[in-house]
Amino acid sequence: MDFNNYFKEYPDINGYFGKYGGAFVNDELKNAMDEITKAYFKICKSRKFIDELRRIRKEFQGRPTPITHLERLSNSIGNVQLYVKREDLNHTGAHKLNHCMGEALLAKYMGKKKVIAETGAGQHGVALATAAAYFGLECDIYMGSVDIKKQAPNVARMKILGANVIEVKEGLATLKEAVDAAFAAYAKDYKDCIYCIGSVVGPHPFPMMVRDFQSVVGFEAREQFIEMTGELPDTVVACVGGGSNSAGFFAGFLNDPVEIVGIEPLGRGKKLGDHAASLNYGSEGVMHGFNSIMLKDENGDPAPVYSVASGLDYPSSGPEHAFWHDIGRVKYDVIDDKQALDAFFELSRKQGIIPAIESSHALAYAIKRAKELDHGSILVNLSGRGDKDMDYILENYGI
Ligand SMILES: *Cc1c(COP(=O)(O)O)cnc(C)c1O
Repeated sequence: MDFNNYFKEYPDINGYFGKYGGAFVNDELKNAMDEITKAYFKICKSRKFIDELRRIRKEFQGRPTPITHLERLSNSIGNVQLYVKREDLNHTGAHKLNHCMGEALLAKYMGKKKVIAETGAGQHGVALATAAAYFGLECDIYMGSVDIKKQAPNVARMKILGANVIEVKEGLATLKEAVDAAFAAYAKDYKDCIYCIGSVVGPHPFPMMVRDFQSVVGFEAREQFIEMTGELPDTVVACVGGGSNSAGFFAGFLNDPVEIVGIEPLGRGKKLGDHAASLNYGSEGVMHGFNSIMLKDENGDPAPVYSVASGLDYPSSGPEHAFWHDIGRVKYDVIDDKQALDAFFELSRKQGIIPAIESSHALAYAIKRAKELDHGSILVNLSGRGDKDMDYILENYGI
């Protein structure tokens, strides 16, 4: 396949990447999605929007984030040279702010007063609350009671940033119920607000928009890597939950002779319920408003999933990943909890960078691969920093 015109051709006008994508929502939400799609296509081409987003990336987020050569870690393994793109140094400590700033800026250009979202572990909620505070937008974050108890520091952050954290008590009171409550509130109120989805998932136009906003990571990284080394990396790797940090990172290298690898969480093992490796073990299906490859239970509903990394435990991935998977442009592999935790300590102790447990999955694959090869370079997208994982590490490692 030729990737020269890829971003013009994918997704198509109805939001499809091959057979994946679309907008499987009721008529009310379809109208809301159509409004956002129309506005996005117009606004994203305007000089004013592009310049404002570029200025925000530089002056508020601290972009471009650097690439670091992991010299000591590479030497401890062999000849392969490992590098990381430092999204842990993006403001708020992860890549999520890249699309939240884009979505909130779009809300401002559309004349909306409020942004709405759901959050599970709270990372998306904190990034969106940050963006809302920057633009002076109201921010309603829906969160299950169970998650509110578990994620006290992120709940505090959202409140400090001025967001309303709305407790959802229905059912199991976790992410699924929060998604339902947030969508119901949005359908009632879409004239005044926009829903900000937290990854390259959900109905069209979100998989496309979030990829576009995240692609700054891949385009920066390509240029920086060439400047640093005079060549392209042999392999690029990123972890895949919903798939936003990886989609944006991979976007920069699709048209290059570079091997691209996405890493899914194998959790405790291959049994359904013990992992969240949807592209490796799932099948085609519709959930949360889009068609993709997903993990299903015996009734065809989204299956329970597990990973030590709460940012990766989602039963599907964005439609564009399902497409890249099927055409073979991206290889999807797995890393389990233990391998990720080993990589977490390796990077901390050999390089002085504490990575997010999510990002540690991508790093673990790079380390494993570096041990098998006798030359070459691997660039890993370090999607976030590990401060948020300290409680888990303290509890389980008794440091
Ligand atoms: C949320 C999160 C992820 C997973 O989300 P994607 O949409 O797959 O990128 C990965 N890393 C970090 C640090 C996160 O916060």
